[in-house]
Amino acid sequence: MRSFTFFERVSRAFHNNSSHFKLVALCTVSGGGLLAYAEAASSEAVSDKKKVVVLGTGWAGTSFLKNINNPRYEVHVVSPRNYFAFTPLLPSVTCGTVEARSIVEPVRNFFRKKNLDIQFSEAECIKIDAKNRKVYCRSNIENNLNEKEDFVVDYDYLIISVGANVNTFNTPGVVENCHFLKEVEDAQKIRRTVIDCFERASLPNVSEEDKKRILHFAIVGGGPTGVEFAASLHDFVNEDLVKLYPGIKDFVKITLLEAGDHILSMFDKRITAFAEDKFRRDGINVKTGSMVVKVSEEDISTKEMKNGEVTTIPYGMAVWSTGIGTRPFIKDFMKQIGQANRRALATDEWLRVEGCDYVYALGDCATINQRKVMEDIAAIFKKADADNSGTLTVKEFQEVIDDICERYPQVELYLRSKQMSDIADLLKEAKGDVAKESIELNIEEVKTALSKVDSEMKFLPATAQVASQQGAYLAKCFDRMEECEKNPEGPLRFRGEGRHRFKPFRYKHFGQFAPLGGEQAAAQLPGDWVSIGHSTQWLWYSVYARFIAAPKGDCSRHRNPQIFEDVDNHSNSQTVEAVLRYSAMDCFLVSQDIKEPPNINPYLC
Ligand code: FAD
Ligand code: MG
Repeated sequence: MRSFTFFERVSRAFHNNSSHFKLVALCTVSGGGLLAYAEAASSEAVSDKKKVVVLGTGWAGTSFLKNINNPRYEVHVVSPRNYFAFTPLLPSVTCGTVEARSIVEPVRNFFRKKNLDIQFSEAECIKIDAKNRKVYCRSNIENNLNEKEDFVVDYDYLIISVGANVNTFNTPGVVENCHFLKEVEDAQKIRRTVIDCFERASLPNVSEEDKKRILHFAIVGGGPTGVEFAASLHDFVNEDLVKLYPGIKDFVKITLLEAGDHILSMFDKRITAFAEDKFRRDGINVKTGSMVVKVSEEDISTKEMKNGEVTTIPYGMAVWSTGIGTRPFIKDFMKQIGQANRRALATDEWLRVEGCDYVYALGDCATINQRKVMEDIAAIFKKADADNSGTLTVKEFQEVIDDICERYPQVELYLRSKQMSDIADLLKEAKGDVAKESIELNIEEVKTALSKVDSEMKFLPATAQVASQQGAYLAKCFDRMEECEKNPEGPLRFRGEGRHRFKPFRYKHFGQFAPLGGEQAAAQLPGDWVSIGHSTQWLWYSVYARFIAAPKGDCSRHRNPQIFEDVDNHSNSQTVEAVLRYSAMDCFLVSQDIKEPPNINPYLC
């Protein structure tokens, strides 16, 4: 298969490369004393550098690596994948709309373009020892004895960006019988299995009942991935496979199982309703309020949430897509640092892991533990009370309001939700009907005034958008570590002295996009702006096309010409859509380079 040869090619090229390095090293040794001196001098220079170890080459890790520029670091990347995978296009790979090779990019490509000391090891981290600043790793490649070698890497700073694994909620039979859709290999396996099901159902002597079972595709989880896969599969079956297998087309059934009341529950209600209606019209069986409790080789057992009734459904292929869980070695690490009860690694707003120094975590494996205003209220009061009067005036508040809003973003969100333009409005509300200038509050009154702001704290979703923005943010912090040590640019430290070195991480939401098949899509942009249907597809085309047309935004063609070959080879609307999405998402990664995007939708840049 073309995709496999590609992987083999990439892999071989990399392994060949490492032998080139060895060759260079050998030549150096043969050069004699002068070179030995040069080596000693350079190793001295190297020892000055701070060693940054990056775990993972997904959205977060790659974004960090693309953005880090300061040569004072020696970077060691450890990941079982020597490529970056563009996950939003994985559902398109399952149906052949896009080839697997089009959505991966070798990580060494990024390094080549950087004037940085970067080393890559194709291995997975198996243990973190934060006390001694070491990570234990296991090579991904077997040696001559069919064993995988272990090694240890020291670090000055550790960046954990290992993503998450699939959450099966310990449902019996899921690991053994279901497909997942997390990795490129998963998507390829799904594609092969779909075709296998059609071939199996076409064999002679297969009963009608068995044909029905074999051609029943069950998708568990009505989130964006499950919905997009269901839509892609429906298009694939109805546009291509029915023509190739006309005799069995009437046996095909697609079921989407969701435990909650609705699919796409994280989207606006209008989108949810549209998607459910469209799927029903398309003949996709949407079963909401139905929780999968067991999966055996040929049946899925579901429990109705309403009445607890258990039903058994025969199936041919099942795809499990119900959310994410924590990787086992991260769980162990969390126990080590007193975070055993958490779902993901907790960090502060600067992405530093709580409970240990010099360790950062970002992307799907981490969650920001936002600081509550009410936890710090006494410290905020003390710092704001410049004249030590025991009361706060509006003027005193206004002196520190920018720092408060920077440190506690929920304050600004709360003011906005109440349509208040000024903190004075909030204080006035607590104090009653007094003139603005004469407002003066004691600590209890300040507590009352700010008592509800923490209700506006928002958890960030586990998305590529968040992960890539966090990677870029952290790289910028690392680049300016020394500079900001001398001239801190962050908000006041309310519980300590001085200012924070950096501004805390702030997420910019660019919107969500859910392809629903049949050239229809739903988009939800910031400000509750919702667009649904064919026009949305074209709206997104036009927005994304600008990225492709833009001189600096022409990143995808430059980075990955293969995807354009896909378009040339099998040009259909889905592929075009995929390319456009690819370009736009790719631009999320490089948007930092684009100083003045030419006339682009502000939501996307
Ligand atoms: P990942 O991108 O998963 O990367 C993790 C990296 O860590 C990988 O390189 C992995 O090989 C490596 N790793 C794993 N274990 C180890 C270890 N032990 N040691 C070292 N390295 C390790 N988000 C969007 O915003 N928009 C979308 O349209 C969208 N569509 C999606 C579609 C699908 C099918 C899927 C699965 C996800 C989608 N997402 C989307 C979510 C998005 O992919 C994730 O949020 C994002 O990948 C998280 O980035 P990350 O860097 O934290 O993890
Ligand atoms: Mg005062």
